[in-house]
Formats: sequence, structure tokens, C-alpha cells
Amino acid sequence: MRSRIYRTRRFLVAATAMTAVAATGIVTAVVTAAPSTAASSCSAGYVALTFDDGPNASTTTSLLNVLKTAGVRATLFNIGQSAQNNQALVKAEAAAGMWIGNHSWSHPYMTSLSSSGMASEISQTQQAIQTATGTAPKLFRPPYGSTNATLKSVLAQYGLTEILWDVDSQDWNGASTSQIVAAAGNLQAGGIMLMHDTYQTTRDAIPQIVTNLASRNLCAGMISPTTGRAVAPDGTVPSASATTTSPSQPATSASSTTPPASGACRVTATVNGWNTGLTAAVTITNTSTATVSGWKLTFTLPSGQTITSGWNATYSPTSGQVTATNASYNGTISPNASVSIGYQATHGGTAAAPTGFALNGATCTTA
Ligand SMILES: [Zn+2]
Repeated sequence: MRSRIYRTRRFLVAATAMTAVAATGIVTAVVTAAPSTAASSCSAGYVALTFDDGPNASTTTSLLNVLKTAGVRATLFNIGQSAQNNQALVKAEAAAGMWIGNHSWSHPYMTSLSSSGMASEISQTQQAIQTATGTAPKLFRPPYGSTNATLKSVLAQYGLTEILWDVDSQDWNGASTSQIVAAAGNLQAGGIMLMHDTYQTTRDAIPQIVTNLASRNLCAGMISPTTGRAVAPDGTVPSASATTTSPSQPATSASSTTPPASGACRVTATVNGWNTGLTAAVTITNTSTATVSGWKLTFTLPSGQTITSGWNATYSPTSGQVTATNASYNGTISPNASVSIGYQATHGGTAAAPTGFALNGATCTTA
């Protein structure tokens, strides 16, 4: 199925490559995507939208236009020989603010190759994309998600992080636009969604996907080469006291259904873990009758966990007992109102939630 579609498309690409280069011309400046038209606070965190199998002379320009109009940046996993044959399109991808990843040279099952065959697929593609954009990719997605230990060791030699996905749009399998939109509803903070460059159904789904993410206070971000998870678009820095981007509007939101409280605060912490890392979403609710201005939330991370990046607060130190300090835009919490913060962390086997929450020294109840 995918391989048959792929061969058909590749033939088209080869036939039209020269036309595309001539028509697209030279891109002179790198610009980022337009501001999001669908306002989101990003208070729930970031997800990554990914599109495989480009560039294609017949579809990539349309995809970039849809993404720019929707005001989102995405990660595009390019096929090396297509990148080589469509260098102007690769430049256009970068100029539109997209992150470009390596998707092999010829789209084989990587696990069918020797380690030298894998290295050839990977290095040729690194070279083609570096030639087009000036930057070699840091992310690699194996075709068909087919991977093994040999591939992982070859990727390590090239400084590449392997990226699979959490949500499969099934666009390659004939999913309708509404089915693709519904799939995006399963994205959680830090998560990655698989889509493809080639399908009209996918392009038609993008505006609705962005609207749905915004309604959940999620924003489209980049994939961290360090953690392999979605982070803020500028949030490369998995560093000690990383405050991330300022959302376009305050993250404080009123809650009208808070039950009577026994303490000054209530905290809900939700952790989504994978084999070596986790994303934690923490909601702080002011259950007192007084407004809190300027807050610090202390909590204790389980042993072995280290925070690598965060949003809506500054986290220090990155392990043990951590203090999360408010960002400039969310320092005031009215009575019965909540603020959402979060972080990504590595772990040594335990992806559990933190414990012992206190807000400005007052112990919080946990929901
Ligand atoms: Zn592919």
C-alpha cells in the first residue's frame, strides 16, 4: 500500500523536479510562521505535527501554504533523494519556519539493510538537506517506523535522534479529513502526530486540527532532539532553569466549580511517561479567599527524575525538591482560579508524579 503509492509519487517527482526548481527560485530570507490565528494560551503544553515523504513538486508548496495560513510550524521528514531533486522546495520549507528531519535516502525498510547500508541512507540525506538549507537534521524517522538496535547505533554516530509517533493520522491508509482531525484529538502534551506531505485530506484537516488544539490550550511546537518530545518552538534549551515561551494570553483561567477547600491550594499532577522520559502537567488552584500575587510552588520529584525543560514557570533545581516560580504573565491567581504549568523530565525507571506540593509555603491538597 504505502510502497506502491510511494513509487508512483516518486516517478512524478522525478518528472517535474526541474520545473519546480525553476519556478520556485531562490529563497533569500528565513521567516517564521505567521502568528496563530486560533488563540491558545499554550498552558497545556506543546505537541508536534509531522509530515513525512516530502518534498514533492506537486504537493509541498500547498502544504506549506496551509501551515503558514494556520500559523503553525511543523516537522517535515524529507526523503533524501527527493530533497536532492527539489532543493528549492527544501529551502522553502526552512524559510517557512519548518523543522526538517531525515527520512532516509530511498525510503527502504531500514531493518533490511546492513549497518553500512543504513549509514549510506542516512549520510546522503544529511548531506542533501545540509546543502539545501545549510543545516544538517538532528532528527531521523525510519520509514514505516521500522527500527532495531543496529539502526539506533548508526543514528548515534550521526548525532541523530530517532523519532516515531504517538498518534498515527492513518492518512496513508485512506483516512478521511474528519478521521484525521479526530486522531489529532488524541494528542497529549509532548506528543507527536504522524501525517504525510502528499494528501489533500491531510491538508484539509490542518485548520481544524489547529483549532482543536487551541481549544485544549495546546500549541504546535518543535521536537526536542534531546528528549524526542514536543517542546515550545523556541524551546530547544533543555536547560536547568528553562522558562519557556510566553503564551499570547494569560494562563490564568477562572474555574466556577471548585469545591470548598481545606487548604490554601489544590494541585493536580498528570504524568505521561515513556521508556526514558515523561511529561508532567500540573494545575495549581487557589482555594483560599485571597488573591495570590507572585507564587512559588515547591514539590519533590521521585528519585531518578531530572527536569529537562518546562513551560509557564521556571524550575530550579532540576531534581530533588524543586521550586517552580511563576512566569511574568501568570503570577496572579484569583480565588478559585487555576494556573497550569508543566515540564518534561528524564527518569531512571519511575515515571511517577511529584509529591509534597506547597504554594508559597502552604501545603496543597492533591486531587
Ligand atoms: Zn515515509
